[in-house]
Amino acid sequence: MKKRFLLFSICLIIVSVIITSVISINVNIKNFISEKEMELMTYCRLINMALIEEFEAGAEVVYVEAAKNFSDEMGMRLTFIDMEGNVLADSVEGPDYVKMENHLGREEITEAILSGSGKSNRKSSTLGAEFLYVADTLEYQGDKVLIARVALEIDKLRMINDFIVKTSLLSALVGIVVAAVIAIAYTTTLMKPINEMEKQLKATMEANKKSEQIRKDFVANVTHELKTPLTSISGFVETLQDGAAEDPEVRTKFLDIIAIEAARLKRLIEDILIISDIENKREFNTDSDINVRESIEEILASMGPIIEAKQVKVISYYAYEIYIGGNPDRFKQLMVNLIENAVKYSHDGGTVAIKAERKEGKVYVSVKDEGIGIPEESLPRIFERFYRVDKSRSQKVGGTGLGLSIVKHIAALFEAEVKVESEPGKGSEFTVIFRG
Ligand code: ADP
Repeated sequence: MKKRFLLFSICLIIVSVIITSVISINVNIKNFISEKEMELMTYCRLINMALIEEFEAGAEVVYVEAAKNFSDEMGMRLTFIDMEGNVLADSVEGPDYVKMENHLGREEITEAILSGSGKSNRKSSTLGAEFLYVADTLEYQGDKVLIARVALEIDKLRMINDFIVKTSLLSALVGIVVAAVIAIAYTTTLMKPINEMEKQLKATMEANKKSEQIRKDFVANVTHELKTPLTSISGFVETLQDGAAEDPEVRTKFLDIIAIEAARLKRLIEDILIISDIENKREFNTDSDINVRESIEEILASMGPIIEAKQVKVISYYAYEIYIGGNPDRFKQLMVNLIENAVKYSHDGGTVAIKAERKEGKVYVSVKDEGIGIPEESLPRIFERFYRVDKSRSQKVGGTGLGLSIVKHIAALFEAEVKVESEPGKGSEFTVIFRG
């Protein structure tokens, strides 16, 4: 991308420099020639004026001498021609001017006879070289007397033209080099934000792809998780319908299983709805000050039957009344999952310790158990949806595999951090650090 852009800018620069050079060389040469023509015309006029002065003074003008003198002064060829085209004098030919042919056919002379002055750019039949000719008619007392013609060798002009072309090309080359250096430097700076944007776009696309994959996996997992209890329920219902309902003992057993599976299904759907609400940012309760102690006590009261069933001892410690800002329902959902897990994965009669304290301007809420613990290699994965260290164990204790995923989502809403420390066989401690 950068290379292509650079190549394009350099080509553009070269093309524009070439076009500008060609135009400027042409303009320069044209200007130079017309300046030279004007200069020659000025000479002609000055010579004519000088001759008029001589006429007025009544002096006898010797044209051959006059041509030589003026020509020496100007450093250019000078010819005097009468109005019939006869050569009166020529600075180059000297006395041989008499041999020169009639000049009526010469372009500059014809023009001068017709309009007073003329110019042409052609080969001299007398000298062979190419000349720039300028001619001006001398008028004295209302009569056209003669034509003064000045000639400049084109070769001299060519040399000067070459010089113009060379300097123009050299400056064009310098221009291209300077422009290329600037283009390279400019492209690098210009490309920087573009590269940055490209990188960001790629990262966003990758993230989108990843989240799309996560969503697909989640849908597949949810379908599977919902199907399992439903298959089990419909299987037992069918067996009951097929006659098993006749036996009261079997019937009670099967109905119990159906009730357990239905409860699992309900929990699963509830958890999925919570995750979906958080992800879609559907908040039903506005933020307020949450009294951490009161909230946890309410949770423990509602969890009484589970705690009693496992005969777990729950110890809570609150340094003092602690408040955090946020949605109270979400805070409860987070704590319910942590406390429920601590109880679920505790041994019967174990102890669960809940602690809330303020440290270094932050609020630390921790739930610690002395249960089965989590193997080190599973620690990075337990917050993933549907990840369970031991699937059958999780199912046995009524887990959905979504609890810690909900914890992670809610912690993110609170801009809180979740830490876990665990040792298999010794227990686990989950700590949520709120901003306070
Ligand atoms: P589940 O509904 O299966 O408990 P969670 O998302 O809450 O799902 O937890 C994921 C997994 O992490 C659990 O299946 C369990 O293996 C492990 N886990 C979570 N909390 C604890 C804990 N306090 N002690 C031991 N293992 C735990």
